[in-house]
This record gives sequence, C-alpha cells and structure tokens, in this order.
Amino acid sequence: MINPYKYVKKDTYQMYINGQFVASDSGDTFDIVNPVTNEVFAKAYKGGASDMQKAITAARNAFDNGPWGSMTQLQRSKLLLKVRDVLARRAEEFACLEGLDCGKLYPSVLYYELPQSIDGFEFSAGKARCLEGKVNPVDGNYLNYVVWQPQGVVGEILPWNGPLMMGCQKVASILAAGNTVIIKPSSWASLSLLVLASVFDEAGFPPGVVNIVTGSGSVVGDVLVKSEDVDMVSMTGGTPTGKHIIKSSANTVKNIALELGGKSPNIVFDDVDLESVVKWAAHGFTLNSGQVCVAGTRLILHENIYENFLEGIKKYCESLKPGNGFEYEKGINLGPVISKEHFETVWDYIESGKKEGARLITGGEKYTSQELAKGNFVPPTIFADVTPDMRIFKEEIFGPVLSVSKFKTEEEAVNIANNTKYGLAGAVFTNNIKRAHRVAEKLKAGQIYINTYFSKGIMESPGAGWKESGLGNAGIYKYMHPKTIFVDLDDNSNPPV
Ligand code: NAP
Repeated sequence: MINPYKYVKKDTYQMYINGQFVASDSGDTFDIVNPVTNEVFAKAYKGGASDMQKAITAARNAFDNGPWGSMTQLQRSKLLLKVRDVLARRAEEFACLEGLDCGKLYPSVLYYELPQSIDGFEFSAGKARCLEGKVNPVDGNYLNYVVWQPQGVVGEILPWNGPLMMGCQKVASILAAGNTVIIKPSSWASLSLLVLASVFDEAGFPPGVVNIVTGSGSVVGDVLVKSEDVDMVSMTGGTPTGKHIIKSSANTVKNIALELGGKSPNIVFDDVDLESVVKWAAHGFTLNSGQVCVAGTRLILHENIYENFLEGIKKYCESLKPGNGFEYEKGINLGPVISKEHFETVWDYIESGKKEGARLITGGEKYTSQELAKGNFVPPTIFADVTPDMRIFKEEIFGPVLSVSKFKTEEEAVNIANNTKYGLAGAVFTNNIKRAHRVAEKLKAGQIYINTYFSKGIMESPGAGWKESGLGNAGIYKYMHPKTIFVDLDDNSNPPV
C-alpha cells in the first residue's frame, strides 16, 4: 500500500496571495482532518477578511496593470499547458493529498479525478485559442462585430466533495478566458488547492493572477462576494448558500454563476437487464459515498420490477466494503463522508426516513466495528415506498441514502421525477429508444443520462442547473462577456436629422 503521508508537510500550509506563500494576518490556523479516522494530520493558515482583501487587491492589480492583461491568448494557453504538465508529473502526490483530506478512494482520485483535473487545463488551453466572436449582418454600410472579453477579477468559491477536480476545471476556464482569480476552497477540503498554488508558481504565472485564500465562507467568502473590485463570483455548493450569495452580491450587481444542489431522479422501466441496471443505480447513489451533486438519489421503479430490483440493489449495496480508500487492494470500495458534522446531518435524514414510515431495505444502522466507528462511514441506506411528502424525497442528503418510489405509467414516472425544486440531473433506463428520448426530453434538469449514470465529457458539455440547482451555463463563455462593436463604413456619414 502506498504511504500517502509521505507527501504531507510538517509546516503549516500557507495561502497564496500575489505570488507569495503567506500566513494569515491573524496567525490563526485550522486542522486538516482525515475523515477515515477523524485524526488531524496537518494544519493550514485560516484566512480572514484582511487576507481576502489583499488577494482582491492583487488580483485587481494583476488584471488591470499586470503582464497578464496584455498577454496574447497563445501566451496564456502555453502557461495553462505548463500547469497541465506539472500537475501530471505530480499526479500521485495530489491523489494522495486529496485521498487523505476527503477520505476518497485512492484509485478513483488517481485514475479519474486527477486525469479530469489535468484535462481541464489541456482542454482550456486549447479553448483559449478558439474564442471566436462573430460578425452580425446589418442593414446599411456598417460592420457590426462581437468580441468576447474576460470578466476581470473572478472569485471561485468551492465545495468539499471534489475540490481538486472541480477547482482545476473551473479555474482553467477562468484563466483561459483571460481573468484573474481568487480561489476560496471549502474549510473541509482546502489541502489540495493550497498545494495547487505551487503548481501555478512553478508554471510561471505572474503574481496576482491566481490567489488562494482559505477561511470560512461567512467571513472571507462574504468579503469576496460583496467587494466592488470583484467582477464575478462563481460558487459551487449548496442551494441555501447560493441563495445567500444572490442576496449579498446584489449591491454590486456583479455577475454570478451558481452550481448548486440536486435530488436527481433515476427512472427504470421494466424492459431492462436488471443485473446491469442494479449496478448503475447503486453506483449512482454510492459513488463518493453519495457526495456527488448529480447523484441519482431518487430511484423511480416500474411496478413490474419493483421488488426484484430492490432485492438486487440491496444485495449489491451489502457487498460494498467500507474502509480506508488507500487499502484498495483489500477490496475497499466505500469511503466515509467528509466530517463528523456531515455524518450527523446524514444520520438525521436516515432517522427521519424511519419516522416518516418509509420501508428500510438495507443500511440504516451505524457500523459498530471499532475501526469504522472512528471515521464517518455511513452504510448505503435504501428506503422503499417513499412518497413525495417525505423529507428524504424532497431534500438533498449528500450521503449514500436512496429513496425509492414506484410507478405504473410513463406519465406517472415523469411526474414523480419532476416533483422537486431541484433540476440538476436525471436518468432513464429503458431499451425502448423512443421512450428513452421522450422521457429525457420531459425531465426538467440540465443533464440527463440514458442507460448510464454520470456524465462523460464534463469540459465539453454545458451542465446548467435548472430550477434551484443553479444559475448560468457551464463553460468558458460563462467567465466572459460579449462586446458588440459598431463601425460606420460610409465615407460621408452624417447623423440622422
Ligand atoms: P456549502 O456549504 O454551500 O459551501 C460551499 C462553499 O461556499 C464553501 O466554500 C463555503 O465555505 C462557502 N460559503 C458558505 N457560506 C458562504 C457565504 N455566506 N458567502 C460566500 N461563501 C460561502 O456546500 P458544501 O457543503 O461545501 O458542498 C456540498 C453542496 O455542493 C451540495 O449541495 C452539492 O450538491 C453542491 N455541489 C454542487 C455541484 C454542481 O455542479 N451543481 C457540484 C458539487 C457540489 P465554508 O464551508 O468554508 O464556510
């Protein structure tokens, strides 16, 4: 087994502001905890309002006056490719740090999240060179053309469920668009992003283009959101935080992009191969211990397969092996949730499912072994006969908890699926191709999977959250604004009288 701790520094991890690795002004620190054991394995400086203010000033200056603003897109693209190369060289180190900090399964980080992170830079480096505008046909002797320009200073506020991958994908787009950026990682998962600063440093980014400030959302996040010097805030996190950011950014009328929570439906018709779809459905709600925004947490089963499917998915979930994600050679394939606090929140939902009368199929009892009880392990928990009035049907749990409902007709399935305030994702499993497309079209969500679960090609595809799941489309143009330029080509033009 690899020793991930060989990559952990003894010194307190520093923030990155204006091209310097710095402590917080207050000297305050916070613990970095392994969710597998709840042991503290490192410390990091905890930023406050004055640290965030310094980062904003640095990012503003780098955009307005620094070399970054006058670089060509080709030059920016080449810097992004250097980040790709350094990150690829240090992939094992980042997979270890992310695995330790988030309790993730090491192979998932090394073979999926790291390649996705690296590809984020490669994709964006290419995209930086293809930011095409357009010429609009107009009546008269005019040239009317549209160019895309960066927003300016962008604040990127991140969640804890996939901090490195999400951070890299978003920051790569932000930089490729020509912006400067201040990254605010989640207090639960800051480590990989703090270390990512050294990658930008090595790649040779000018000071102030990338800044990384830790600290709580209500303090440093709030400064970022309210600042008049920040042109745009992009936040990935829970819907309540997104609503708060909409309100607190209102005074500056800044551009905001929000990627928020979900409660995604997964509809299974009775014409499918049960063995295969059982695996997809289980994967859909247990991946990363259910801490995936697009997780398929509401399973909607045709009545003809209902009991058989429940039996199959119960068996599959009971075969999952919880533990330390670095011990994958022992068959460990289920990690913990991020923190004790989040464990309690998830558990509260499990208790509410029991109280509200849902039928418990599997899980629902805490692990008793000493080793697992030290960490934040939640057994995959399945409730059947869940009705739309129950909390476990309505609210995002963000843990491995599945709510199952039954349908008879296609119309009923779609109605159950759309009976939610969220609109992030959804899936349909059927061998009837016409029905598959019909249902996909009717589902009110930004990404739909047919006969699979989870997206392929995240960078290449827009993944907008509908309803309370978000604001703004994904992709590089989200971090830019269009400018239309009107040119009068007439030699003897006069204003109209
Ligand atoms: P969260 O509690 O909403 O926090 C997200 C980020 O916002 C954190 O960095 C947090 O800082 C910060 N924050 C909190 N209050 C703030 C404020 N008043 N002003 C500015 N920033 C503030 O979400 P989470 O628990 O980290 O992540 C889980 C959620 O993210 C789930 O709902 C999940 O669905 C969603 N998510 C969505 C997507 C998507 O693409 N749609 C992807 C991944 C996750 P601190 O926590 O450090 O205080």
